[in-house]
Amino acid sequence: MAQEKKKKSGAKAAAAVRKSGGARRAKTPQSGGAGRGTDPARVRAILKGLDEAYPSATCALKHDNAFQLLIATILSAQCTDERVNQVTATLFPKYPNPKAFAYANPSELEREIRPTGFFRNKTKSIMGASKKIVEEFHGEVPKTMEELLTLPGVARKTANVVLGTAFGIAAGVVVDTHVLRLSERLDLTKNTDPKKVEQDLMKVIPQDRWILFSHQLIWHGRRVCVARKPRCVECNLERLCYSKDKTN
Ligand code: SF4
Repeated sequence: MAQEKKKKSGAKAAAAVRKSGGARRAKTPQSGGAGRGTDPARVRAILKGLDEAYPSATCALKHDNAFQLLIATILSAQCTDERVNQVTATLFPKYPNPKAFAYANPSELEREIRPTGFFRNKTKSIMGASKKIVEEFHGEVPKTMEELLTLPGVARKTANVVLGTAFGIAAGVVVDTHVLRLSERLDLTKNTDPKKVEQDLMKVIPQDRWILFSHQLIWHGRRVCVARKPRCVECNLERLCYSKDKTN
């Protein structure tokens, strides 16, 4: 029944695309790097499909405030959210604020976050970012992209996670490994560099959808459009997708 519903919604979305001229016949993309499939009707159909499949997609990293989300996001590099949540369950009670992390014992912190991988670099980033927050931002996580990017270990992906999820500020689109892969498969970009992919997505996705779109794509990438063998038979975007990675 659910499968049938998915098929129907996929067919509806595909019909919208056909009506608008078809994804393959999309007019000139809105940016030099955007994929062929950026026809507005097709993009709307993709967003609709994502809304139907993941109406309440959100960040899987457990946190109570913006600072905890920042730390969890730094820890999530090359690590699963599940593993990060296991580590932060004991880490956050022990280090309850930026000051506690800023002046932590580095070798102790390294040991505690070791299960998340790259623990030496992550310790440097966490302590460096916390110190800067204490000393230059009065103990509060800054709310602008420019300021966040001055924190050690924070690049656009982390800044977008914090701004979007903790503050509801749509300054950009989170481009992690899932968003990168799915943007390419859904032909929303021709680029492979995360910064360029983000710029392409910012041009084709309406700004009021940036935050939810990132979460939805991440959920879709984890549950259906997985890296090795995407489960296209379960995918409600199947009729809108002409990726070479599609499976039967
Ligand atoms: S049809 Fe397959 S490759 Fe395309 S988005 Fe769906 S799961 Fe991914």
